Amino acid sequence: MKTRLLLLLFLAALPLLSWGDKGHRTVVTLSLTTLPPEVRAWYRGREDDLRDHASDPDHWKQDRKEGPRHFIDCEPYGGPAGVPHDQEAAQAKLGAAFYRNGVVPWIIQDRWRDLVAAFRFGDPEKVAFATSILSHYLADLHVPLHTTANHDGLETGQKGVHSRWETGLVERFVREDALRAPPAVADPHILDRPWDWLAASYALVPQLLADDRAADRTTPVDPRGRRRTPAYWLIFWAKQGPVVTGQLEHAAEHLGDAILSAWNEAGKPAAPTNPRK
Ligand SMILES: [Zn+2]
Repeated sequence: MKTRLLLLLFLAALPLLSWGDKGHRTVVTLSLTTLPPEVRAWYRGREDDLRDHASDPDHWKQDRKEGPRHFIDCEPYGGPAGVPHDQEAAQAKLGAAFYRNGVVPWIIQDRWRDLVAAFRFGDPEKVAFATSILSHYLADLHVPLHTTANHDGLETGQKGVHSRWETGLVERFVREDALRAPPAVADPHILDRPWDWLAASYALVPQLLADDRAADRTTPVDPRGRRRTPAYWLIFWAKQGPVVTGQLEHAAEHLGDAILSAWNEAGKPAAPTNPRK
């Protein structure tokens, strides 16, 4: 009983839902449109599986080690440029605080290697699952608030901004069929890219927080006592909509690059002729 209570408290304390289910589904689906036909063929008939598993890692958080896999706080490193690419160097920099500070860039590397292995193994089901899981962590890194210690606005009196941005705006306003991503590009240095994505994501944090504050300031209090008014949502979307859709599109683009690079690394295997038995 006590263990269960502790577990519930632990789960309740986890602040990170990450893009909400809709955001994760959107990223993995859009990434397929970026792939050349010979890679796209690996996923034929498995599109629903890809979407259905894209949020799986958010359901693994009963494992105490899972939470930090979804984010990284840049501040203890002195900003994104101070985050070493080498995991041992990062460990040396933060000491005992390393893991709880978040490890998403290195998890993306690990899950990318899983995808290479799945392509080599030659099983489309394994390829689809590895792709879903890679997509999750990669998409999480594109959520600006997954890169900062102020991840839920607590330090600036904006509690809840995390889910307002990544779930509230996405669920209310994003039209999946309006998003676009350019053709995938194979990148021999794909394992270094998460640090670029991290820097870009972190740079969006100050404006995101400012826009949430502005939307709050300019909207009247809801007479029914609800925390956020329809006007708040419209104003926050007017200010941050391009950022939300931009980050979804960038995540899909970068996922496409990662998939194509993994397929190259595996030796460009041909998809089985009847991948869905
Ligand atoms: Zn997540």
